[in-house]
Amino acid sequence: MKIAILPGDGIGPEIVEQAVKVLNVLGESFEMETAPVGGAGYEASGHPLPEATLKLALEADAVLFGAVGDWKYDTLDRPLRPEQAILGLRKNLKLFANLRPAIMYPELAGASTLKPEVVSGLDILIIRELTGDIYFGQPRGVRECPDGPFKGEREGFDTMRYAESEIRRIAHVAFQAAQKRGKRLTSVDKANVLETFQFWKEIVTDVHKEYPDVALDHMYVDNAAMQLVRAPKKFDVIVTGNMFGDILSDQASMLTGSIGMLPSASLDANNKGLYEPSHGSAPDIAGKGVANPLATILSAAMMLRYSLNKAEQADRIENAVKKVLAQGLRTPDIYEAGTTKVGTTEMGQAVVSALS
Ligand code: NAD
Repeated sequence: MKIAILPGDGIGPEIVEQAVKVLNVLGESFEMETAPVGGAGYEASGHPLPEATLKLALEADAVLFGAVGDWKYDTLDRPLRPEQAILGLRKNLKLFANLRPAIMYPELAGASTLKPEVVSGLDILIIRELTGDIYFGQPRGVRECPDGPFKGEREGFDTMRYAESEIRRIAHVAFQAAQKRGKRLTSVDKANVLETFQFWKEIVTDVHKEYPDVALDHMYVDNAAMQLVRAPKKFDVIVTGNMFGDILSDQASMLTGSIGMLPSASLDANNKGLYEPSHGSAPDIAGKGVANPLATILSAAMMLRYSLNKAEQADRIENAVKKVLAQGLRTPDIYEAGTTKVGTTEMGQAVVSALS
């Protein structure tokens, strides 16, 4: 099995190095090939997603991605900015389902801004649709307002849309994920106001007929945002559109205390995927050896589970992470009095030791 390793910028190379170390001690014969992406891609060949990097990602069975971006590229034309690499990879690899687990390890309950009893033991999975919705709908732009009270003024506008097949395929991913977990799925919409989401609700309800073992409920996005901080543990799997998913997954990430703990997967129709930590390239701490590598290590575990069919190895990694947390090891972002502060490399090494 071939894994494309794309470390990227900022803390990307430091944290990906730890995940590669972990993959190397599993006793599997993965072929791993590294290529530059983001700002590193731009430096190497004048484009954030160099042709050779894209070719490698297309050939590989899975992609392990660090993070891209740095303030020094902010003045480049938009198509040359590091972040464009992610959009290019998503499009070329036809990734449409973004899976973001938010897990609160009991040892870290004190690191959340919410009361420990609200978040301790939290384990939810947010599934965000990635290709449709208001982010890509046409037409969009700024025009002269054609009618109504603001007629003649300039107005900005976008188009919210979802095709039936787009809703069906993400609903299948969500029901199947729920089958492997607590068998409960919440579909988040705004069906009371938006036609697109009335349609979404209708299609998700129809797909549900194929998954009678999963309990489905529907929730308006405003209520979901409130419930996520009021009683987050009542959720199992949440599925929603591109925009609501963008917002709710970031909100859920903060329930767990640190963005440095959150892995993610973006999957295509055949479970090939791109795996990356939910955070960015953190240029403020890059090169200091303090970044938390656990989100990337847990992303590698997701890669084993969803793309490489190695669920047992994924479990081993997740258990090793629990073990190092139970040992009291903490990078600065999750450090609390009474625990042991370690750097990026020590944390990676501790996971390797826990595995062996
Ligand atoms: P960020 O996620 O990089 O950092 C936000 C804060 O979280 C910073 O204080 C950072 O130090 C901290 N942080 C992030 N990851 C951490 C880790 N593993 N361990 C400890 N602390 C961590 O977001 P930002 O600062 O808004 O963006 C920085 C750059 O990353 C920008 O160029 C942005 O465009 C890019 N970005 C890339 C991705 C991606 O590659 N998928 C995602 C988001 C942002």
